[in-house]
Amino acid sequence: EAEEAAEKEEDLTSRPPVVTVMGHVDHGKTRLLDAIRKSDVISGEAGGITQHIGAYQVKTTVDCNERALTFIDTPGHEAFTAMRARGAQVTDIAILVVAADDGVMPQTVEALNHAQAAGVPIVVAVNKVDKDTANPAKIRQQLTEYNLVAEEYGGDTMFVDVSAKQNMGIDSLLEAVVLTADASLDLRANANKDARGVAIEANLDKGRGAVATVLVESGTLNVGDSIVAGTAHGRVRAMFDEHGGAVKAAGPARPVMVLGLTSVPRAGDSFLVAPDDRTARQIAEKREAAERAALLAKRRKRISLEDFTQALEQGKVETLNLVLKGDVSGAVEALEDSLLKINVGDEVDLRIIHRGVGAITQNDVNLATVDNAIILGFNVKPAERVAELADREGVDIRYYSVIYQALEDVEAALKGMLKPEYEEAQLGSAEIREIFRSSKFGNIAGSIVRSGEIRRNSKARVIRDGVVVGDNLTIESLKRFKDDAVEVREGFECGIGLGSFNDLQLGDTIETWEMREKPRA
Ligand code: GDP
Repeated sequence: EAEEAAEKEEDLTSRPPVVTVMGHVDHGKTRLLDAIRKSDVISGEAGGITQHIGAYQVKTTVDCNERALTFIDTPGHEAFTAMRARGAQVTDIAILVVAADDGVMPQTVEALNHAQAAGVPIVVAVNKVDKDTANPAKIRQQLTEYNLVAEEYGGDTMFVDVSAKQNMGIDSLLEAVVLTADASLDLRANANKDARGVAIEANLDKGRGAVATVLVESGTLNVGDSIVAGTAHGRVRAMFDEHGGAVKAAGPARPVMVLGLTSVPRAGDSFLVAPDDRTARQIAEKREAAERAALLAKRRKRISLEDFTQALEQGKVETLNLVLKGDVSGAVEALEDSLLKINVGDEVDLRIIHRGVGAITQNDVNLATVDNAIILGFNVKPAERVAELADREGVDIRYYSVIYQALEDVEAALKGMLKPEYEEAQLGSAEIREIFRSSKFGNIAGSIVRSGEIRRNSKARVIRDGVVVGDNLTIESLKRFKDDAVEVREGFECGIGLGSFNDLQLGDTIETWEMREKPRA
C-alpha cells in the first residue's frame, strides 16, 4: 500500500471495480451472477462467457460511456472472508442480494456485517421482484436498521429492484455499482509496471498442470513473466480470459487464468512478478520456509501438562490423555494403578491411551499427536530423533524417576494447581503530549505512539524519568480522534484512558505489555 501511495498521479489510470455478490442462501446470487454474465454488451461478438475461471469482466454502458466491471464468480461472503483472513482484499464493492419475497435473513445480516467491517460499499439488489409476493419496500425498510438507507429515503445506499430470472433491472444494477464506485472510491492503478495481485482460485489439471486464476491489482501481467503466487512459482506460459480466448497482457482488475506455475497456489495468495525465474524460485522458497515456521508455532500450542488446567477452565478439553512408558513393567503398572485412583471429579476424565515398557518411541509420539496426549516416561527417555519429532509436533514428554512425583504433577494439573508460567511481553510505548480532563473517562492522555503499538485492554504502566509511578494499569479506552480504536501503531497520535488512574504528566511514558505464556525449555 505504501508503494501504491508513492505512485505518481500521472501514472495512474482508472480501473474497473471488483464486485462480490453476497446474500442469504436461495436469494438468487448464482442466478444473478448468471444474468450479469449474459448482459455483457460485448459477449455477443466474443461468443459469450464460455469458461468459469473464478472471475469475469463485463462491459456496460453508463452515461454513453462503456464501463467495465469485474465480478468474483463465487457467490457468498465465505470466500470473501477467507481471502480477507489471508490478508487479501480484492473486493471493492459488494452487491447484497435480498429476495423481495423473503426479506432480510441471518446470512443477509452476516454478509452486510462482513462487507461493512471491510469498509466495502454495498449496493442492494432487491431480487425476485417478478413474484406476486415480492415486497421491495419492505426490504428497504428492514435494511435501514443496518445503516443501509435507500437514496429515496434520504440515505446514500443504492437499492435496485431486479429479477435475475427475467433479466430485469440488470443494467440498472450495473449502473448503480459504477455510480457507487465513482462516488465513494478512487479506483486507479499504475498499469505500467510489473504486475501484482491475488490468486482467486487454482487447481491441478491433468493435461495442463497447475492452473490458477489471478486478479491483477496493479501493473500488467505478460506472457513470459516469472511469477510467484503464494509458495508456487513459475513462468507464465499462457493466459486465458473468461471467453476462453488467449490473452497476452492483463492490466489492473483483469482476471486471467494462468498456466505455467509449478504448484497450485491457494485462494487469497498474493502474486507478484520477479525479475527472473531464479528469483521467483527463491522468493517462493522463502515464503514456504516462513509458512512452515508458522505451522510449527501453531503445533507448539498443543497441550502440555501445564496448559491443561487452563484449557480445562476454558472448556477446551474434558479429558487428560496419557501415554505411560517405563523401564520395567512393575513400575508402569504401579504408576497406572495410582493414576487411576486419583479422584478426578466430574468435569474431567483421565484416560491412559497407551502403556508400555521401554524407551519412548516414534509410535508413542504419533499416538500422542493424534489424541493430544501427554507422555509420562518413568526412567525412560526418547531417542534424539524421537525427541525432535515430539518437539515438532508439540507433544509434551515428561520425565520422572519417582512415581509419587508423577502422581503429584498429574493431580495438580487436574485440580488446577499446576499453572502455566507467564512472562511479560512488551507491546509498545507512547509519550504523553497533552492531558484532557474528562468527567466520564477520567484523565485522557493525548499521546504519540513511540514504538510498537498501543492496544486497548492491554496492561500498562506509567514511567516518569525512569521511575514507575503507576503499574498494573489497563488501557481502558483508546481513541483515534473521535473514534474508538483497537490498536494504534508507532508514529500515530491517540487518546489513552487508564481508568481511575489520574496521575499523568506531560512527558510521561506509557508502556504497554501483556502476559504471554513462557515458552518451555
Ligand atoms: P443462491 O443460493 O443465492 O445462489 O440462489 P440461486 O441463484 O441458486 O437461486 C435460488 C432459487 O431462486 C432458484 O430456484 C432460482 O431459480 C430462484 N430465483 C433466483 N432469482 C430469481 C428471480 O429473480 N425470480 C424468481 N422467481 N426466482 C428466482
